[in-house]
Amino acid sequence: MKEIFVPATITDLTVIDPNEIRNVELTLPQEHEFGGTVYPIIDEMRPGTAFLAKPFGARTGRQRRRMYTRSNSSIDAKGVLQTIINDTHAEKADTSVWWQTDDATAFQSAGVTVPVLFHVTPDGTALVPYENCSAIEDSNLRLEPDGEWPTMRFIGIALSTGITPFLAHIRYMKTLNFGRTEASAGVHYSLVVSVKNPRQLLAHEELKEMATAFPENFAYQPVLTREWPDDWSHGRGRIMNITELHNGAQKIDLDPLLEFLLDIQNEHVRICGNRDACRQLDEGLTQYGLRPRSFRAEAW
Ligand SMILES: Cc1cc2nc3c(=O)[nH]c(=O)nc-3n(C[C@H](O)[C@H](O)[C@H](O)COP(=O)(O)OP(=O)(O)OC[C@H]3O[C@@H](n4cnc5c(N)ncnc54)[C@H](O)[C@@H]3O)c2cc1C
Repeated sequence: MKEIFVPATITDLTVIDPNEIRNVELTLPQEHEFGGTVYPIIDEMRPGTAFLAKPFGARTGRQRRRMYTRSNSSIDAKGVLQTIINDTHAEKADTSVWWQTDDATAFQSAGVTVPVLFHVTPDGTALVPYENCSAIEDSNLRLEPDGEWPTMRFIGIALSTGITPFLAHIRYMKTLNFGRTEASAGVHYSLVVSVKNPRQLLAHEELKEMATAFPENFAYQPVLTREWPDDWSHGRGRIMNITELHNGAQKIDLDPLLEFLLDIQNEHVRICGNRDACRQLDEGLTQYGLRPRSFRAEAW
């Protein structure tokens, strides 16, 4: 499939936690000229998928291809790609550092664009954003079809910026009234979010308000692992604890997480975070003899 990069304008770079996390918003043009043809841009990205952009690398000084999960829903904001980006602090960290810098802010002020990957539709009439996955698999978080999710019960476990696919799911579902009809109570979605400190709580007020307004469809459990205010009434400490055993295996303590999730075997469990945490949750459930209805994990 032909790769076409469309210039997107940086329209938001709000600092969530200085030098650590930013909300990023890239706004697409309505049409784009390629090879002498002007194509309209159609944005119908499915909740839970990621787009591909080419930001700069702070380490390499070059443009790099990187994927970002969209945190808003295409039915609410056509052509406005929101995501949340954290500095990974990995040894080779490159673009994740750049997004936190004044250089990125200068791009925004000067109206410099960031290329986003698009494809031509099969009928050749329009451009659509590349999505990292086109089918539902255990290793991605593309949302189930609209004929399925309204009758499901989900548990989303979000580690830090791993909240992005869950925000897209929940915002999309809310726009569709959580799939409620006269005959059905709609979806049930419990979201557990684990971050280091209160500054890193993303969309906290929005999620609290949603849980209050739609208690039959949405529950929110934020957990702070390192710092919390004295009056913090939600979870504290790590949601999983790992003990290394003499034989090299790991004993995985899920008790803190299971305190929030009383009936995990009746739920469709989803997790987004680093590779180790996703594997540990999967192994921990096996160690506890717990089998959720389904398990899907996206690791970055
Ligand atoms: C589907 C998907 C969705 C994602 N969504 C988000 C999101 O919403 N928010 C977010 O913040 N991030 C997201 N990511 C991660 C994001 O794409 C970047 O990988 C991340 O931001 C780190 O980027 P980086 O350039 O700093 O470092 P890296 O991507 O880790 O890479 C830096 C450079 O170092 C090289 N490198 C890395 N490790 C080694 C090594 N051991 N030896 C040699 N070279 C190495 C890489 O090839 C690369 O050239 C997502 C990733 C995927 C796959």
